[in-house]
Amino acid sequence: MKNFTVKTNQREEFIDISHQVQRIVDESNVKEGICLVFVPHTTAGITINEGSDRSVAFDILRRLADLVPESLKYEHLEGNADAHIKASLTGSSVCIPISGGKLALGTWQEIFLCEFDGPRVRTVLVQILAS
Ligand code: ZN
Repeated sequence: MKNFTVKTNQREEFIDISHQVQRIVDESNVKEGICLVFVPHTTAGITINEGSDRSVAFDILRRLADLVPESLKYEHLEGNADAHIKASLTGSSVCIPISGGKLALGTWQEIFLCEFDGPRVRTVLVQILAS
């Protein structure tokens, strides 16, 4: 298993990590298989969505904020209950097929680290399984 870190800059943001993940696939020399990308955090997530138009990520963050407002009353008293809920909504991992040594992402797809309680330094774990 490999890992890398991502320094986030805002409380909430999506950071494109596709190139870091592809670099690990390149180094593995695996041509066909599965790539698991996982974040070991409770207030950050992983998702795949459009990367060419940055407004898509902005819209997702804005609608998540509407769905789970930071200012509501929560039982969790650390002050970041909304971030925990948003992390559960996005999930902690994605699995991407590897074909011809490349992540088989769609034309418009990118892998995003979803920060919901930054700025922080986040760790991303990458496990590659050859088939
Ligand atoms: Zn918390």
